[in-house]
Amino acid sequence: MTDGASSDEDRAMGESILTVDLGALAENWRRLSARVRGAECAAVVKANAYGLGVAPVAQALLDAGCRTFFVAHLREGEILRQVVRDGAQARIFVLNGLAPSSARFFVESQLIPVLGSLPEIAEWAEFCVADGVPHPAAIHIDTGMNRLGLAARDLKLARALTSSFTPVLAMSHFVSAEDISAPSNRLQIERFEQACAQLPPMPASLCNSSGLFLEDAPFLDLCRPGYALYGGNPTPGSDNPMRRVVGLSSLVLQVRDVAAGEAAGYNARWTAPSRRRLATINLGYADGYPRSGSEGPIGAEVFAGGHYCPIVGRISMDLSIIDISETGPLRRGDRVEILGPNISIDELAAESGTIGYEILTRLGARYRREYIHGAETPAEAPASEDANPPA
Ligand SMILES: *Cc1c(COP(=O)(O)O)cnc(C)c1O
Repeated sequence: MTDGASSDEDRAMGESILTVDLGALAENWRRLSARVRGAECAAVVKANAYGLGVAPVAQALLDAGCRTFFVAHLREGEILRQVVRDGAQARIFVLNGLAPSSARFFVESQLIPVLGSLPEIAEWAEFCVADGVPHPAAIHIDTGMNRLGLAARDLKLARALTSSFTPVLAMSHFVSAEDISAPSNRLQIERFEQACAQLPPMPASLCNSSGLFLEDAPFLDLCRPGYALYGGNPTPGSDNPMRRVVGLSSLVLQVRDVAAGEAAGYNARWTAPSRRRLATINLGYADGYPRSGSEGPIGAEVFAGGHYCPIVGRISMDLSIIDISETGPLRRGDRVEILGPNISIDELAAESGTIGYEILTRLGARYRREYIHGAETPAEAPASEDANPPA
């Protein structure tokens, strides 16, 4: 009981550890900000900053200079407003728009709704007239997603209603920005330009992370990256231009040898082809490690003892089994890499039949979360220019 910190560390020994590199996150924002030249670079921090923790993420982005944030829900906006206290300093847009009768909550927390339909626009206009204040709002224009946003035929009516509030942003969203050859990209840019011409002049925004890397990317006035900030690859099929932000390690609970023909895991879906050495790790689908990683044709791997080790048998709720036969000696208590320098978010996603966005946003609530700064990243490739020891 003499040293509280060390007993805390002992406890952490038994946990999976999620490491979030806020230095790399800030660096990613600066890189994208430089890329968009004269345009403003916002940050999309919906879904608890893609699972990484909205409070530390937003604070790091604020410190880096970011002044415009996007969340999905009113509630997310209210939580973020607690972090971003000065409303004049930073704008928070709520992408999913105005739920019925929620206008006053937006105003109370200084949140800006992204109005995505005529009924939303009418309700905001009516609220502003009753309130006697032309509160700000963004207008979402549909250019092909058919999810949220005004159709071309709604623009005339919308235009008439905008006189009752302050339209501060017109935006639309790409269907296939990560596919640079998709014809929809050019088509959406044209439709967006046509729609904006029918609205009063206001700043415009189209690009998400991948949109920023399109040829002749339409940076316009403001860009809205999310995934790339968190280290996801916005250019699938090419090298990742972003720095890695997320690391995840888990722990070996047991090591055992099985003979050829013995099965492992639920429903005996895997059988040892020869004598194998297995390790059980304390990570499962309840931690957001996708169960599909043990069901698909490729299959997930972890990195341990300098080798990639395949998952064998079904991933269970709290546990997974890995084959460590080809690895150096691994013992109870050793850590294995789930995400990190050897396994990217995008790789784990591909092995699990999903996308990196889903890997991030499902990251478990039971991890010990450690927020670090750049140079402290353990096992980071050494040759980088920012390899100075932390101050
Ligand atoms: C989530 C979202 C973004 C961010 O997209 P990324 O691909 O993560 O960069 C931008 N705009 C809208 C409307 C979104 O819903």
